[in-house]
Amino acid sequence: MVLEHTLSIIKPNAINKHVIGDIIKRFEDNKLFVVGLKMLKLNFHQVLFIYNEHKNKLFFNDLLKFMTSNPVVLLVLEGDNAINRNRLIIGHTNPIHAIPGTIRKDYADNITENAIHGSASKEAAKKEIYYLFKKDEIYKKIY
Ligand code: ADP
Ligand code: MG
Repeated sequence: MVLEHTLSIIKPNAINKHVIGDIIKRFEDNKLFVVGLKMLKLNFHQVLFIYNEHKNKLFFNDLLKFMTSNPVVLLVLEGDNAINRNRLIIGHTNPIHAIPGTIRKDYADNITENAIHGSASKEAAKKEIYYLFKKDEIYKKIY
């Protein structure tokens, strides 16, 4: 057992589809438990921080516009091997390549509006979680 924490962001297009509950259920059914949760509208600085590695890409402007267009839901998820398992449940970045049963296969509209974010590595998870949540907003091992 390798207990890990990871960050997911339910993106604006998934919020518009009213599938917050369905997405959280998929995580809970897979024993990735919610230990931090908030809804907010991300600003430019927050999106730049989360997606810094992409800031010079051609799609960055569209990504920025999309991510700040409507509220998102931030989730801190806790579980065994949480970082990799979260990415498997989410599916491929491009929904065309996402396998059936993954969140992106079911709810992504296109490669930019792909419904959900999941931290890519241990380092990214730590960086993203503690940028977006205060320590006392995370309730570790509450179950
Ligand atoms: P992931 O979210 O699967 O970790 P990346 O880190 O490569 O994927 O990209 C971050 C986000 O930027 C993606 O989730 C998607 O919203 C957007 N994105 C990535 N690649 C493209 C692309 N080629 N065209 C448009 N948007 C993209
Ligand atoms: Mg990524």
